Amino acid sequence: MTLAVTDQTQQEADRYVHSVYEAVIARNPHEKEFHQAVKEILDSLVPVFARHPRFRESGILERIVEPERVITFRVPWVDDQGTVQVNRGFRVQFNSALGPYKGGIRFHPSVNASIVKFLGFEQIFKNALTGQPIGGGKGGSDFDPKGKSDQEIMRFTQSFMTELFKYIGPDSDVPAGDIGVGAREIGYMFGQYKRIRSSHEAGVLTGKGLGYGGSLARKEATGYGCVYFVGEMLKARGLGFEGKTVVVSGSGNVSIYAMEKARELGAKVVACSDSGGYIYDPNGIDVEAVKQLKEVEYKRISEYVKRHPGSTYTEGCTGIWSIPCDIALPCATQNEIDADAARTLVANGVIAVGEGANMPSTLEAIEVFLEGDVLFGPAKAANAGGVAVSALEMAQNGMRLSWSFEEVDAKLHVIMRNIYESSMRAAEEHGHPGNLLVGANIAGFLRVADAMLVQGIV
Ligand code: NDP
Repeated sequence: MTLAVTDQTQQEADRYVHSVYEAVIARNPHEKEFHQAVKEILDSLVPVFARHPRFRESGILERIVEPERVITFRVPWVDDQGTVQVNRGFRVQFNSALGPYKGGIRFHPSVNASIVKFLGFEQIFKNALTGQPIGGGKGGSDFDPKGKSDQEIMRFTQSFMTELFKYIGPDSDVPAGDIGVGAREIGYMFGQYKRIRSSHEAGVLTGKGLGYGGSLARKEATGYGCVYFVGEMLKARGLGFEGKTVVVSGSGNVSIYAMEKARELGAKVVACSDSGGYIYDPNGIDVEAVKQLKEVEYKRISEYVKRHPGSTYTEGCTGIWSIPCDIALPCATQNEIDADAARTLVANGVIAVGEGANMPSTLEAIEVFLEGDVLFGPAKAANAGGVAVSALEMAQNGMRLSWSFEEVDAKLHVIMRNIYESSMRAAEEHGHPGNLLVGANIAGFLRVADAMLVQGIV
């Protein structure tokens, strides 16, 4: 059912939302990724403010764009040569209306306040979409793990946690992994937290190893969840993964398990990448070989072609989108698909795009997809499987038990279907039928806004 509003109400809502966006730019100058994430969401919310004046009266929007807390700290450590190094650590605790702050930690040289705030802001709505009791947060450091020894990674990570521990806890803020932070780093962080607190609080971090409180299927969750979500989009058009050609960017945690599930459902994945370049294998990517290279040997993706005759390696990342495919799954990093790449994908007949990474498509690229009638699964819906299973990990930790892989995977599948359905419903009810970008933004926002409304002006 679509609720009717007058043109005048719509225009007023548009002016109001725009004025909040202008204030965000003025208050956070030079934070272009944060501006981009805010704009993407705010543009979708105009129909909400046209229909629900109560949100405006209680300043929900003005409050939601301002983090509850931003923590910045020094991370000193000593490298293998005995030289003192200093990095910067961040944790943004953006919104706790629905539960403890929840969101990953990223180690990458590009990390700064803008990146952490964009990720934290997105995380609020993504977490809300899962239907679970988790608020939104994000953290990280400009530390570059590439080329560092295992000992250096440990020393840095321990120093990072020595400051971060003051601000987190199983009921207050629960970090997880993200780019550059996998099982190894989570293990070191957990060890240091436990040592400082003298307490085994399993629920303080998610993405833990299976031997000390981790959940089965957490490693797979973001990639599998993304494929489940795209599966729902395809099903609505009477299609499926069977027989489709798929291109997946990245070769990290999200990418590997998106490839694995797409292949399991009968698709042929022909390309993936890392920050150096991309591989193309017309016989279908050997996912086990990528796992070996990336999860075990920590090597570059270019190594793949030495072991797979018939495959090719091309330097540079953006060229991957010129490979013709039915389904594109960007699973590497933000803004990896610009308008030109999107136009190439559309010209080559792409049917569906599922965002495994956070904000991988620029705003202009999204326009191209929507105008081209491409099925578009936005990140905060399509990649919510990771945080959803993180919340399941917290639940298991709280109950001190472990569910089987099949149980967790089945719950993940249901959550992804629910996210798809609630996003479709919200889009329909607010006058944008079929637009999952608008629908996901509205459905996530409404859940947070309703909770903020009844908690008073805090
Ligand atoms: P990983 O560090 O495991 O993998 C990232 C991959 O992307 C690596 O292969 C990396 O290559 C590649 N990459 C990084 N920058 C670029 C670039 N500019 N161009 C091409 N490839 C690049 O991270 P994750 O898989 O965990 O995260 C990937 C994305 O998914 C991020 O946007 C993250 O925020 C998002 N995400 C992750 C979740 C999770 O559960 N892990 C949950 C939800 C979202 P290289 O090794 O050369 O750096």
